[in-house]
Amino acid sequence: MTDTVDPTTTRAEPTRTELDYSRRWSWDKVAWGTHCLNCVATCPYRVFVRDGKVVFEEQGGNIPVVESGVPDLNPLGCQKGASWSQQLYSPDRILHPCAGSASGDRASGRRSLGTRR
Ligand code: SF4
Repeated sequence: MTDTVDPTTTRAEPTRTELDYSRRWSWDKVAWGTHCLNCVATCPYRVFVRDGKVVFEEQGGNIPVVESGVPDLNPLGCQKGASWSQQLYSPDRILHPCAGSASGDRASGRRSLGTRR
């Protein structure tokens, strides 16, 4: 016995998983960006924004060819950069300098934790 599926059959409503997936990979604006000042590479990234927040990013792939025979740099970027938006909004992200740095505690060897959201 063979199960047959009518390929013309469509569901009236998308599943919850389909809705979540569509929402995860939707955006309302694409901008150009790069990453923090601690990295000098400044790789060009396309930044996908929804409701004013970065939802994901991808390498720009727009580095011009320097000259024939020189390896193509595209797509320029690293793993850290490719997941930057996850760090950007992480509750573990340290937003302010160490509390002890301005008062000289850093020299004492005491480690202070940064202020978290
Ligand atoms: S992708 Fe990586 S190497 Fe490039 S700017 Fe961002 S952090 Fe630096």
